[in-house]
Amino acid sequence: MLRLYDTRNRQVERIVPEGSRSLRMYTCGPTVYRSAHVGNLRSYLLSDLIRRVSERQRVRVVVCRNITDVGHLVDDAEIDPVGEDKVLAQAKAEGRGALEISRFYEDAFLADTAALNIRPPEHSPRASETIDLMIEMIAKLIEKGHAYAVPDGSVFFDAASFPTYGEISGNRLDQLRPGHRVEGVDPRKRFHADWALWKPSDRELTWETPWGRGFPGWHIECSAMSLRFLGERIDVHTGGIDLRFPHHEDERAQSDATAGHEVVRHWVHGEHLLFDGRKMSKSTGNVVLLKDVADAGLDPLAVRLALLEHRHRQQMNLTWDTLRAADRTLRRWRSQVAAWSESPSGPMPADRVSRIEAAFDDDLDTPLALRLLRELERDGSLAPGSRFEAFLHLDQILALDLSLDIGRSRSLPGGAAELLEQRARARDAQDWAVSDRLRDELAALGVKVADTPEGQTWS
Ligand code: AMP
Ligand code: ZN
Repeated sequence: MLRLYDTRNRQVERIVPEGSRSLRMYTCGPTVYRSAHVGNLRSYLLSDLIRRVSERQRVRVVVCRNITDVGHLVDDAEIDPVGEDKVLAQAKAEGRGALEISRFYEDAFLADTAALNIRPPEHSPRASETIDLMIEMIAKLIEKGHAYAVPDGSVFFDAASFPTYGEISGNRLDQLRPGHRVEGVDPRKRFHADWALWKPSDRELTWETPWGRGFPGWHIECSAMSLRFLGERIDVHTGGIDLRFPHHEDERAQSDATAGHEVVRHWVHGEHLLFDGRKMSKSTGNVVLLKDVADAGLDPLAVRLALLEHRHRQQMNLTWDTLRAADRTLRRWRSQVAAWSESPSGPMPADRVSRIEAAFDDDLDTPLALRLLRELERDGSLAPGSRFEAFLHLDQILALDLSLDIGRSRSLPGGAAELLEQRARARDAQDWAVSDRLRDELAALGVKVADTPEGQTWS
């Protein structure tokens, strides 16, 4: 049974869908104004792992991951109705239309997630195409006394009407200070911590509403889309740690106030990815894209493996060295799997595999899972056919395309797979003489062996 650290309840909890329903998971999707960097992708990998681990336990999973193509302002920490929209700002900078920009980066995002074997969500609504849901929700919040419209056409959420505000992040209302950009308290608000659900504007990407022309706030978008596509009982809601506040606090207040009960059972957050020691972000200037990884001659799935080497809840520092090491491991595993596939099939080592699966269940302890997998790889007491079964089975969660080289290995000359296997064992036993002899025998068969710090590879 999968257990995950729940940010709001501050403890590890069992992830069980209510009744016999499918597990419903909402993942805050990308703002499509630039390519996702591998830090962003780390957040989406989290949701993919939750899906894969749950599905292996025969739990059906339904994921909604939205596309934010309007309403996310450049300063997203500020509840500032006159702020600049990220998509519009980028459209201006590139001299292209807003729609063109957002579709372009949405396609790029989908290509990146596909390259990382992140399964596509069942629902992928675009904010700009679900404005009616937001208008409906805002009207309902006004009717219930949780929101109020002001003469300039803005609608604000009345934070004080939601007393449990702050449970996710610990930022309780009485401790919140007025925003840093607005001098004093915005006179349109009843309380400085109120935030805009609707913002008046007649620029591009605006819509008519009972309160006037404008566009939605970023937070209401996720509330409206999650309730519509997943219903009022959502099992897991994921996102990067920076979304805890204000985005998820505001989402929770809006959704719960609309539904009249706690909508999300578990809030799960992924920690940040650092690169060369600093948070990866466009503003820091240390962004690595999947394209950069491919341009460096590395497999994009080396990124997936490198990310799996750390638990989602810990900050992790990525470097080019760790990416290259992950790439080497990936290639070695694929060639091992291909070599093992040539051996007679053997039973899956059930106890070893369940220990690895238990590591995934334990709040996604992926580093432990990989450590156990490496032990299994090197364990010469296990028949190659058994190791083959274990690797292929676990690849349902790892999703590293470990069987990729199998076709290639059929071209291995007869007997070479066994020699490779013997040589791996000889090297483990530090029997260099045997290892060298086997290398020569392999060379005579036309198989070139190379030794890396992680083990042998062949071509
Ligand atoms: P955005 O497209 O800017 O809305 O961000 C998409 C997702 O990436 C959000 O869930 C962020 O929390 C997450 N994110 C942003 N920077 C990082 C980082 N350096 N490491 C991990 N996740 C990040
Ligand atoms: Zn969201």
